[in-house]
Amino acid sequence: MLIVMDAAATSEDVRRVVTTVQNLGLQAHPIPGAQRTAIGVTGNRGAVEAAAFENLPGVAEVIPVSAPYKLVSREAKRENTVVSVGGVPVGGQRIPVVAGPCAIESETQALETGRAVREAGASLYRGGAFKPRTSPYSFQGLGEEGLKILSKVRQETGLPIVTEVLDTETAELVAEHADCLQIGARNMQNFSLLRKVGRIRKPVLLKRGMSATIEELLLSAEYLLAEGNYDVILCERGVRTFADHTRNTLDLSAIPYVQRISHLPIMVDPSHGTGKRQKVLPLSRAAVAVGADGLLIEVHPHPEEALSDGPQALLPDMFSELMRQIRNLAGVVGRSA
Ligand code: PEP
Ligand code: MN
Repeated sequence: MLIVMDAAATSEDVRRVVTTVQNLGLQAHPIPGAQRTAIGVTGNRGAVEAAAFENLPGVAEVIPVSAPYKLVSREAKRENTVVSVGGVPVGGQRIPVVAGPCAIESETQALETGRAVREAGASLYRGGAFKPRTSPYSFQGLGEEGLKILSKVRQETGLPIVTEVLDTETAELVAEHADCLQIGARNMQNFSLLRKVGRIRKPVLLKRGMSATIEELLLSAEYLLAEGNYDVILCERGVRTFADHTRNTLDLSAIPYVQRISHLPIMVDPSHGTGKRQKVLPLSRAAVAVGADGLLIEVHPHPEEALSDGPQALLPDMFSELMRQIRNLAGVVGRSA
């Protein structure tokens, strides 16, 4: 259920509604909007009696929320959410590009990539220190040493850092070094990790699971919001289909679909979405055209030596060209990059 306050409601009115909700043994989630505050109610098993709230001062309307996700829905908040990642807005008019290597391999590799992507116009840096690998024998990331290198990259380039959090045990450590915590496709439904990260209160980049529906993606995001973390960015990174000409099938129709039903920003990752260097630029153009709120691009100065995802990494020159084209294209859809 959603309790919508009227524009003139006072903070005292909001507090009274919150207390009334809590007295029923339920959770109240006030969501401030540009015009008015809405209060999401969760924790109920069946329908909640609207009458308990309708006549409280300041309440404009009580809306039963039919969708299984509540706090992430546009019913809960009409305006787009803009998440600030270390001062970079995600979800606004500008389309930020997150760029960097798949994995942090060394200080030299990380810094060289950082300087190149900043020069080309990226606004956020990415790189994994803890890597989710299909094989236990593949490079697993540098761990804490990788996080320290990421902090150096931020210091040297000024770019805020997006990096993956793999498990609950290392979540706090990763949060000390990151400006945004990435939850990878393989962990999208790791509910204890979602709860933990929801309590950390750092922006989160939540990637769509490789066989997850949009409803499942939004319900995973709901875990984060239900813990009180509203700074959530979704990311379409391709799903597994019968098609084998690309690593995954990038589902660009997810972008306008999510934007219609949720207020959360959604980025596109054409690197994992295609798995092929030559496909990253055309799919980036398509992502901007379809309304993506950001791009996530893997870049490596020597992809043939990369310890993970080399075949999809762009060389720095290719990334500069991508940025040039994206900037031109963004104007066509009323945005900038
Ligand atoms: C990554 O971003 O490097 C990554 C492992 O992504 P995904 O979880 O989408 O596979
Ligand atoms: Mn990768």
